[in-house]
Amino acid sequence: MCLLLASMAEKGQGRAIGIDLGTTYSCVAAWQHERVEIIANDQGNRTTPSYVAFTHSERLIGDAAKNQVANNPINTIFDAKRLIGRNFNDPTVQSDMILWPFKVIADPTNKPMIVVTYKGEEKQFAAEEISSMVLTKMKDVAEAYVGETVNNAVVTVPAYFNDSQRRATKEAGVIAGLNVMRIINEPTAAAIAYLVDKRATIHGEKNVLIFDLGGGTFDVSLVTIKAAGTLQVKAVSGDTHLGGEDMDNRMVNHFIKEFKHKKNKDISENPRAIRRLRSACERAKRILSSTVETHIEIESLFEGFDSISTITRAKFEELCMDLFNTCIEQVKVCLQEAKMEKSSVHDIVLVGGSSRIPKIQQMLQELFDGKKVCKSINPDEAVAYGAAALAAQLSGEGDDKVRELVLLDVTPLPLGIGLDGDLMAVCIPRNTPIPTRKERKDVFTTKDNQTSVSFPVYEGERSRASDNNLLGRFTLTGIPAAPRGAICFNVCFDIDANGILNVSAGEATSGQNNNITINSYMGRLSKEQIEKMVDGADKYKREDEEHKKNVAAKYAVEDYAYNTRNAIRCAAKLTEDDKKKMEDAFKSFIQWLGSNKLAEADDYKNKMKELKTIFNPIIAKMD
Ligand code: AMP
Repeated sequence: MCLLLASMAEKGQGRAIGIDLGTTYSCVAAWQHERVEIIANDQGNRTTPSYVAFTHSERLIGDAAKNQVANNPINTIFDAKRLIGRNFNDPTVQSDMILWPFKVIADPTNKPMIVVTYKGEEKQFAAEEISSMVLTKMKDVAEAYVGETVNNAVVTVPAYFNDSQRRATKEAGVIAGLNVMRIINEPTAAAIAYLVDKRATIHGEKNVLIFDLGGGTFDVSLVTIKAAGTLQVKAVSGDTHLGGEDMDNRMVNHFIKEFKHKKNKDISENPRAIRRLRSACERAKRILSSTVETHIEIESLFEGFDSISTITRAKFEELCMDLFNTCIEQVKVCLQEAKMEKSSVHDIVLVGGSSRIPKIQQMLQELFDGKKVCKSINPDEAVAYGAAALAAQLSGEGDDKVRELVLLDVTPLPLGIGLDGDLMAVCIPRNTPIPTRKERKDVFTTKDNQTSVSFPVYEGERSRASDNNLLGRFTLTGIPAAPRGAICFNVCFDIDANGILNVSAGEATSGQNNNITINSYMGRLSKEQIEKMVDGADKYKREDEEHKKNVAAKYAVEDYAYNTRNAIRCAAKLTEDDKKKMEDAFKSFIQWLGSNKLAEADDYKNKMKELKTIFNPIIAKMD
């Protein structure tokens, strides 16, 4: 099955960008000056922390949020990608929650909700909303660079994301006011980047292994790339819950134990200490990618005690060896699924910050009998680069380099329905090229005179249906009464180019048809909920702008007050009386500032007018 990416209907929609919405960092790119450009944010950084913070006065996104995390750990949210599209009861959510300094609770539908205090009030946000805030930031970064409004985006997800995680990511885009043209797999996007970058050097066909190890997820893909521009994903494998943060946690636990041993103090219940320790560990981990030993020094970590220690690369590797082994095992699974010998792999492309870890590179090289890994593609930017190349093609902005791209992706997990006896009847096997449409005509009534049938739709590899991930359930009613097994159903699974699934079932004699309704899926957002979140996103954006305006007005009046005071203080011509008048007005202004912390732009402007009526006559005397 083959998908020609640039359908005419999608062209002419205006500017489009590619967004790599990462667990720990996000990256945005756009087609500009006849090539893909990675866009730096307002701090000059090419990747932006996927962090959102709430304070008593404002909402911060990206670097500003991450920079204040140690002072505001319980209201600084990260890792939304680890929550998106999952249930509160999900074991990974339960184990992650222990390590997060922020609070997560279940809503009545069992959806995890993040609880924060914002402007003195308790608020709850779904992971989609937090991700939408990060997407809004990336959209703003792109708009500042291209100088126009951007409404369209290709957003990437881990290849191993299931249907509900994909849909939730798309919903995050909608809440951010983006038309999500495509959701594509991160390793596929990296493969597009490889193709665009290396096109001139590809002759015939190349099999490329994309090894993508980020902050929270691990994906591996085998892709066959043809010089003409076709990119065929042969197999995907990985773990949606394995990445650099797990390695940070290993180091954090190591130092918690060490601190207990050395100082007889348990810091594990202190969110601020843990947060500071985690930041130090993450830094140390990065350093260990280029040196063999590093120090961790944290002043007054807990009850006045400092933490001063060293860690070697060998110790770090020992702490994480099982995680590294899992990565290598998944590469082997991917080779098996693609039915490809390792000797047929031409290139190994590293993607994601954690692929910089030397031990992982060494283990990969050993697995591929000494083959060198490709380092010419920037691991932090390849995904956004590929997403932007695809976005450029879909919007019609790109040139020949992207125009002829043809992408053939695959399903990451088997999809099917639960039959009587809790049996999983697979309709679409794992690693089937998408888009795809498959039918099953071997589903029958299981009872005499059965007039309705329920179709649970599952995703997963287990043969017992209930061990898999229940995506939804729909019912077909009005079936003519007949003996068991006499009525047959036609069940159809349809996956579109975003990897999003629609399932329908029909019964020929009665003409009854039904299909799955997304809202029936537990934890999935209803249209009304999405609309509410879109309104919320607008409201928060307006509030952010309001806050910026207030801060600008405050600075303006403060600037004016201080500058004028300094000028008057130094003026030789003025009487002591005038100087005192000024000092009194200045003092009362400073007092007013102190007791009106929530003042708004208009209040500051009025204050400015008030000060001017006192200061201007004095200044006139100076002239
Ligand atoms: P990504 O999700 O691709 O942005 O990857 C971010 C993850 O890569 C984080 O866990 C980082 O700590 C990790 N990372 C970034 N640079 C390095 C490095 N030089 N060595 C080890 N890990 C790194």
